[in-house]
This record gives sequence, C-alpha cells and structure tokens, in this order.
Amino acid sequence: MSVRSCRTEGGAGCARCCIDLTIDQPDIKKPAGVPCPKLVDDGHGGHLCSIYDKGRPRVCRDYRCGWVKGVLDEEDRPDKSGVIVAEAISRKELQEAFQEIRAAGMGVWRVIPIPGANVDKDKIHRITRRLQKDGAVITEEDPGILGNNKAMRIFFRWLYGGR
Ligand code: SF4
Ligand code: SF4
Repeated sequence: MSVRSCRTEGGAGCARCCIDLTIDQPDIKKPAGVPCPKLVDDGHGGHLCSIYDKGRPRVCRDYRCGWVKGVLDEEDRPDKSGVIVAEAISRKELQEAFQEIRAAGMGVWRVIPIPGANVDKDKIHRITRRLQKDGAVITEEDPGILGNNKAMRIFFRWLYGGR
C-alpha cells in the first residue's frame, strides 16, 4: 500500500527508481544508473514517466519504495536524500523468514545509496535505524541484519532452528 505519491503537484517528481535500479523483466530491461527511455522532463527539475497512465509495465505499477510506503520521513524522498530504500530480496534459505516477517505486518528492507549522491554515513545510519523499527533491514556491515525484537526472533528461529 502507498501512503505517498512519487509525483508532486506543480513540483519536481522523483523518478530515482526509474534511473538507479536494474530492471530485468520481459517487458522492460535496463541496467542500474541508466535512465529508462520512457522518462521525460517534468518541467520542474524532475522527471516523470511518459507512459505512466498509458500501460507502463507491471513491474513499474507494482513497485513501491520504502518512502512511498511511508516507512521513512518526508525529507527522505530518494531524489532528495540520495538513498533508495527497497524491499529486500532474500537468499533462498531466508525466503520463508522474510515472508513470515512480512505476514506479521513488518517490512524487510535494504538501503541503496544512489551512486554519485555522496550520502554521508550518518544519514545511512539514521535511515537504517528508522527501518529497524519497521521490521528488519539488511545492511552491508556485520551483523548484516538488524531488526526490531519481533523480526529478529523470526530471523533467529529460521537461521538456527528451534521451530
Ligand atoms: S524511488 Fe520511490 S519515490 Fe522515487 S519514483 Fe521510485 S517509488 Fe517513487
Ligand atoms: S516505464 Fe515508466 S515507471 Fe517504468 S521504469 Fe520506465 S519511466 Fe519508470
């Protein structure tokens, strides 16, 4: 469910996921860092999808970053913060743990600093701590997974057994 819109009435819209993420689907393929060819200037210093209401691919219709889902603060919209927060895709052995955490109404996120945005570590840590409250966040650092107590109990059960 979305609680925010990527588009701002009369202002620049965000389109970072259309630029910074790899898309590898039958109907759309592009490497990370390459703007989608369907993007156009929105006239306000941002971008918008030229086929947004005209049959944009399913993967685009389904995609919602953490900011759109309301997990982050207003100021952390990806085009302003330099960070995209995406739903984490799990290694095979953790898929069921991810599903169980999501089924319990929490999220499992990963933080993607936008290349060239020079995001400082304090901001990454602040966003990581915010995500930790929502459920779990996969980090680049040891221990690799941080989460609230409920999410971590699920993770440890799947990692170490005891079900
Ligand atoms: S990165 Fe998030 S806010 Fe920006 S366009 Fe994509 S879904 Fe919308
Ligand atoms: S088709 Fe539209 S929504 Fe999908 S990646 Fe391209 S610009 Fe973004």
